[in-house]
Amino acid sequence: MNTQKLPHVVIVGAGFGGLEAAQKLAKAPIRITLIDRQNYHLFQPLLYQVAIAGLVPSQIAYPVRTIFRKQKNLTFQMGEVTAIDLDSRYIKMNGSVIAYDYLILAVGGQTNFFKMKSIEQNGFQLKDIHSAVATRNHLLEMFEKASREADVLKRRALLTFVIVGGGPTGVETAGALGELISHVMTKDYPHMDLQDVRVLLLEAGNHLMGSYPQELRKATFNLLSRKNVEICLNTKLTDYDGSRITLGDGRHIETQTLLWTAGVRAAELTGKLGVRQSATGQVITEATLQMPGHPEVFAIGDAAHTVHGNNQPLPLLATVAQQQAKAAASNLRKMLKGEQLEAFHYKDPGLLATIGRDAAVARIWGLSFSGFIAWLIWVVLHIYRIIGFRNRLVVMINWAWDYFFYDSQVRLITEE
Ligand SMILES: Cc1cc2nc3c(=O)[nH]c(=O)nc-3n(C[C@H](O)[C@H](O)[C@H](O)COP(=O)(O)OP(=O)(O)OC[C@H]3O[C@@H](n4cnc5c(N)ncnc54)[C@H](O)[C@@H]3O)c2cc1C
Repeated sequence: MNTQKLPHVVIVGAGFGGLEAAQKLAKAPIRITLIDRQNYHLFQPLLYQVAIAGLVPSQIAYPVRTIFRKQKNLTFQMGEVTAIDLDSRYIKMNGSVIAYDYLILAVGGQTNFFKMKSIEQNGFQLKDIHSAVATRNHLLEMFEKASREADVLKRRALLTFVIVGGGPTGVETAGALGELISHVMTKDYPHMDLQDVRVLLLEAGNHLMGSYPQELRKATFNLLSRKNVEICLNTKLTDYDGSRITLGDGRHIETQTLLWTAGVRAAELTGKLGVRQSATGQVITEATLQMPGHPEVFAIGDAAHTVHGNNQPLPLLATVAQQQAKAAASNLRKMLKGEQLEAFHYKDPGLLATIGRDAAVARIWGLSFSGFIAWLIWVVLHIYRIIGFRNRLVVMINWAWDYFFYDSQVRLITEE
């Protein structure tokens, strides 16, 4: 068969959405070109483990070409898509042009600093491998510097770690960092006075985990407090110059470390399309996930704004991206057959966040769990979801080692 005559589907982004869509279209009579600026799929939910020296990047990333080795109708191309001409139906990448019949836009998101340039320049973020490794290097360097700093105030500033954003990423990172300090760093730096070390979690709202039910918000607060994390609610940050945070009420915090986890906006490419976008840059889609005026284009995941049943946008979660990918793939098949398309409906699989060793919060099948049981569910689910048998095994061994020996194996300061 001359495959060149088959409809050409371009998928931009090999994240949770793009990967799932490509896999769901494996048997469709089409040619797929999957494009990503990275040659690997990244399991972002465990990025914070790289930042706190719990895992190495290769344990949470997997080469796209290996994933699709056996998928005959797919070609992978690595490169940055810089423009899309929606009317003429082509994309621009690596200086060349690729025409498409159908397009699935799955470019994900980026950190939203809400135009606060000083924080973007001086703070850290968790979005990709580069930012997670930079955070890890910095955290470990702070301990090295503090170990040779005689001035008490300077030492305290080096050992004050501020995380901004009381959502799942901020909570998970703060809990894990609190534990790294009390279980591991105290052994590596036996002369360090724990009184000098502070982990602060700043949240502008009046509770942590805003999207979680009340009982789990409370459980999160209690579990995190036990990990020596100072939780500051109703605390807005206005400026950070690299060594001093200014809060909305005029107070200051002296610190060399600010990790910003308080916002996500759509990837840059969505802003170049000239289509309707949400306040945070997501492409506004029809209920069928098609782009208004361009039925051959589907937008999914963190790059898409699809209003759900209660008129609210869907949360920016991997589970949403994956379910949308399945729905977009199914609708694309229907289009090929000339059938009626279906509206997307999100099936909420529940909520889950870990707060360090033996502690997590979960909402599954309408039931709330917290503590050890929730943590076990978290461990099993995350190991199950990591791509690649080898990665699963290595992550499992790593976590078991950390668990039984109260140790973390990746405390390396590497060149960036
Ligand atoms: C630190 C962190 C923790 C998280 N924890 C959880 C969690 O516990 N549970 C959960 O459900 N969700 C979690 N999320 C959210 C989840 O990771 C996202 O919702 C999910 O990744 C969205 O999938 P996506 O396919 O839309 O985008 P992504 O997975 O981000 O994939 C987008 C892909 O597009 C590529 N790309 C972007 N622009 C271009 C371009 N111009 N050209 C070529 N390629 C491009 C990127 O390289 C990337 O590979 C977390 C996110 C972060 C950052």
